[in-house]
Amino acid sequence: MRVSGSLPRCAPWCADVAERLRGRAGQEQRKRRLMRSSGLCEICQAKGKTALATVVDHIKPLALGGDDADENTRNLCDPCHKVATAEQFGYYKGVSSDGWPI
Ligand SMILES: [Zn+2]
Repeated sequence: MRVSGSLPRCAPWCADVAERLRGRAGQEQRKRRLMRSSGLCEICQAKGKTALATVVDHIKPLALGGDDADENTRNLCDPCHKVATAEQFGYYKGVSSDGWPI
């Protein structure tokens, strides 16, 4: 399907979402934030486990009015990020005893 005209930069519901750094500046910011926990997942660390952080997560999501500030970020591994994101947006129910999502 061909889309004509210019696409909106952002959906109407996210018009008030905080700006985040893009490009090289964004990469440097991400690297600096990851180094705060030595590149390790902060949730896993709190549980006494060690996992490499792959995501800089916004504790209060930008889409829900959070700021793109260091104090509003934490470093997470992919599994912890998926759980945290699902919980933040209210659709994580868990996994049943047979291993399938509820
Ligand atoms: Zn983790």
